[in-house]
Amino acid sequence: MYFSKSKYTDFCQCPMLMWLRQHKPGVGTANASAEARARIGSEVGDLAMGYFGDYVEVTSCRDGKLDIPGMIERTREEIAGNAPVICEASFCHEGLFCAVDLLCREAGGWSIYEVKSSTHDNALYLSDIAYQKYVLEQCGLRVTGTYLMYIDNTYIFDGTLDLRKLFRVIDVAEQVAEKLPEVAQNLTIAGKLLADADEPDIRVDAQCGKPHECEYWDYCTRHLPQPNVFDLYNLWFSKMLALYHKGIYTFEALTTEKSVQNVIRTMQIDHALHEQEPHFEPEKLREFLDTLTYPLYFLDFESVQPAVPKYVGTKPYAQIPFQYSLHILEHEGGELLHKEFLAEAGTDPLRPIAEALCRDIPKDVTVLAYNKGFECGRLRELAGYFPDLAEHLLNISENVRDLVVPFRNGWYYNKRMGGSFSIKSVLPAIFPDDPSLDYHNLEGIHNGGEAMNAFPAMEQMSPEELAETRKNLLKYCELDTYAMVKVWEALKAAAGYETA
Ligand code: SF4
Repeated sequence: MYFSKSKYTDFCQCPMLMWLRQHKPGVGTANASAEARARIGSEVGDLAMGYFGDYVEVTSCRDGKLDIPGMIERTREEIAGNAPVICEASFCHEGLFCAVDLLCREAGGWSIYEVKSSTHDNALYLSDIAYQKYVLEQCGLRVTGTYLMYIDNTYIFDGTLDLRKLFRVIDVAEQVAEKLPEVAQNLTIAGKLLADADEPDIRVDAQCGKPHECEYWDYCTRHLPQPNVFDLYNLWFSKMLALYHKGIYTFEALTTEKSVQNVIRTMQIDHALHEQEPHFEPEKLREFLDTLTYPLYFLDFESVQPAVPKYVGTKPYAQIPFQYSLHILEHEGGELLHKEFLAEAGTDPLRPIAEALCRDIPKDVTVLAYNKGFECGRLRELAGYFPDLAEHLLNISENVRDLVVPFRNGWYYNKRMGGSFSIKSVLPAIFPDDPSLDYHNLEGIHNGGEAMNAFPAMEQMSPEELAETRKNLLKYCELDTYAMVKVWEALKAAAGYETA
């Protein structure tokens, strides 16, 4: 088995991560965002190959797997020839393998270009390049330059993709030179760790990013009771870690920890430790609900974030809304109406969705969203793209009210919320036994990440798959706004108002 540059960067991030990925890959939890990141990385990598013009790519597969010996051999041939740029140029020294994204021929040597789909640099990228430089030099290649290529998020797509503007290229020779001396020593330590069948003794810490970010979070915190300090509502991760390292991680221990107490967290701890009735503040709820005047429009968007902009006027990673669901209550006790929009696969959704919003939502009505920052942001962006619709779209945005407010203020809490006020937590907490409100019972699309992956995938689907995916997307988004209607009704009931 080869040691790869991803193993090296895993080691630099967290030796436990490297060890688990080799010895216990099955204990990690996959998620839709990781899948999306991998797809974006591959798309950006393919695009970057043409950055310098002509290139050769040495990637080859055998029996469905990378043919590493074949790639190494082909790289040797291209180096001996006159290829100006070799993509995925492959090298191996004593089991240390690396494939360079772009290896560029220069007077007197070669330059390494590492391509990243992110919009900023990162210390781990430098370690990655240092590893590549180390392997190439061990193989006898003269490395004269090291560069990082990442996405420039100020680039605005005008209809013709300009790779020179899409990518920002920075010379990282100095930073890589600082990292290079530690490569050999790190490799020795990493090799010993991997050879050991016993897990390294490494605890969760700053390297984890934040709770649940790493795929092994659940595994690495399996010794902790549930809930624990990492479940506290809206607390800095550094603060959670400080408490954890002091041994203060059970909710019992946290009851006397003044530094974490606030209205929500105190309630969260109390409800977790003691059987209590749900907490309502009817007066506050009434004050909030009285500001929501009929007709009520419950709105939710789904969006994609293409790393490489596809639609004129947009930037890399712009949030592109492609779908919305809208439940409407015209008056007290009125019939619940539903409208929806889902863009056609492979089309620019921006103008059609902006027009549909103006058609479906009149000016000056109360629009309800859950975490309104997202919906308002999309509405304002659409107004910026289409000045002729701006007045209407901005009017909608100005009238958006946020259904999360009562939860964030502690006016409605029950134990099952567990300190999370996302609609996906609040809904089952309020309606634990209603299968029609259970996202798990949906087919195909169960969360925003899956919706985000589905829309671009629709471009490649057969008519049958497309019809199925459209149906699933519509059902999913519809549940988001239906959930908001049910949450609003629950708030009304808690406030002492009559519900239908
Ligand atoms: S959860 Fe943290 S400690 Fe565990 S593997 Fe991931 S980064 Fe390392």
